[in-house]
Amino acid sequence: VITFAGRTVALFGLGGSGLATALALQAGGARVVACDDSPESMARAQAQGVVTGDLRDADWSAFSALILSPGVPLTHPEPHWTVALAKRAGIEIIGDIELFCRERRAVAQGSPFIAITGTNGKSTTTALIAHVLAHAGWDVQMGGNIGTAILSLAPPAANRVHVIEMSSFQIDLTPTLDPSVGVLLNITPDHLDRHGTMENYAAIKERLIVAADLAVVGIDDEPSRAIAERRKGALVRIQVAEGSSAPDTLTARAAAVYGTNDERLADLDGIGTLRGAHNWQNAAIAIATVRALGVTGPALDAGLRSFPGLPHRMEPLGHRGRVLFVNDSKATNADSTEKALSAFRDIHWILGGKAKEGGIAPLSPLFDRVAHAYLIGAATEAFAATLEGKVPYTRCGTLDVATKAAAEAAAASDAPEPVVLLSPACASYDQFKSFEERGNRFRDYVRALA
Ligand code: ADP
Repeated sequence: VITFAGRTVALFGLGGSGLATALALQAGGARVVACDDSPESMARAQAQGVVTGDLRDADWSAFSALILSPGVPLTHPEPHWTVALAKRAGIEIIGDIELFCRERRAVAQGSPFIAITGTNGKSTTTALIAHVLAHAGWDVQMGGNIGTAILSLAPPAANRVHVIEMSSFQIDLTPTLDPSVGVLLNITPDHLDRHGTMENYAAIKERLIVAADLAVVGIDDEPSRAIAERRKGALVRIQVAEGSSAPDTLTARAAAVYGTNDERLADLDGIGTLRGAHNWQNAAIAIATVRALGVTGPALDAGLRSFPGLPHRMEPLGHRGRVLFVNDSKATNADSTEKALSAFRDIHWILGGKAKEGGIAPLSPLFDRVAHAYLIGAATEAFAATLEGKVPYTRCGTLDVATKAAAEAAAASDAPEPVVLLSPACASYDQFKSFEERGNRFRDYVRALA
C-alpha cells in the first residue's frame, strides 16, 4: 500500500494481520518500526524482512501514524501504552482496513467493497455473500475478521469485489471507512468489556452504516432499528417476522425471503446449511447485498443452494440411516445453542465443557425438543442439576463416549429424523484446545461409527 510511501510509521501487533500490514507498507515504500509483546511474533516478522524496534524508547515525533492490530485496546479497560504515546505525539491511530480504504480510493475508486458487521452471524453472512457472488462469476476477495488479512488479498480493481467481515474493533480503527455496501446484522450486548457501554458499542457499528453507499440493516433489535431510522441514504431493512411487506424491507419467514411487494425472492427450504430463523436473517441480508451487484433469480438461487456453510456452526455431517448428525461446536454459550435447539426436533443433545455464567437454564423453554442429553466435561454436575426432572440425561464424561451413546439411542428411537447434535453451550478448554478441535474430533467420531 502506497499511502505512507517515504514516511515512517509505528506498528504494534505482529499477528497474522499485523505481519501482512507491515509487509504491505514496506513494499509500498514506507519505513516501518514494528513491535509486539511476543518474542516469537517478533522473530517471525524479522525472518520475513520486517524492521522491528523498541517502540517504548522510540522518538515518536518521527512517526506519521500508529498502525494497530484490532486486538489491542484503544480505550477499555485502559488505552494500550502505544495508544497513549501516539496521542501524546498527536499522530493518527489506524488499522489495516483503513489502509485498504485509502488504497482503494487511490487505485480503484468505486470498486465494489462490501463490509459486514454485527454481534452475531458475521462469518456466516460474509461467507454466504462471498459464495453467492463467486458462484455468479465475480472475482471475490474475502477476508478481514474472517480468514485472510485484508492486505494479503488481491488489491481493489473494477471487476473484483472485496467481501470484508469487520469487528467493531476494526471499525474503530478505520476513520475513513467507505464501503459500497455496509451490512449490519444485529447488535446485542457483547464485548462491552472493551467498548464500555452499549451506546458506545452501537455508535461504532453505526459508523459503518452511515459511511456506506448502500446500507443493509437487520432491524430485529432496538439499537439496529434505531440506526436504520437515522440512516439518510439508500437503505434496505431486513426483518425476520410473520408480518408481510413494508417499504424498503425484505422479510424472512418460514424458510423463505420475501420482497417489498411480498414477492418470493428465495426459497430456503431444504438448504441444510441455512437452517433456523437466524440463518434466514443471514440469507435475507445476503440476498439484499448481492442484488446490489446484480445477482438475482436463478443465479442467486443456485448460489444459495450450493452454500457449503461454515464448519462448526450447525454444520450438517450427513445421515446414518434416519439419524442426522450436526456439529455446532462453535456454540460456546447458551445463546448460540438456543439457535440450534430451535432448528431441530427429536434431539439427542451432546453438551458440556467449561460452563459460562448463566449455564443452560435459559434454554428450558426448548427442552421439549430434546429426547435425551449426553453430558461431557466440567459442566456435567451443574447441567445435570438443571436438566433433572425435565430432560433424561446420561453422564458420559468424554465426547467419544457421548457420540456413541447418542448415535445408538437415536438409531433405536422411532422419530422420523432424530438428530444427534453437538451444541455444547460451553467453552472447550477443559478437554480441548479450541472449539475447532472439539468439532473436528466429533466429526471423526461420527465417521468412525459402525
Ligand atoms: P460471528 O462471526 O459474528 O461470530 P458466526 O457466523 O460465526 O458469527 O456465527 C456464530 C454463532 O452465532 C452461530 O453458531 C449461531 O449460533 C449464531 N448466529 C449466526 N447468525 C446469527 C444471526 N443472524 N443472529 C443471531 N445469532 C446468529
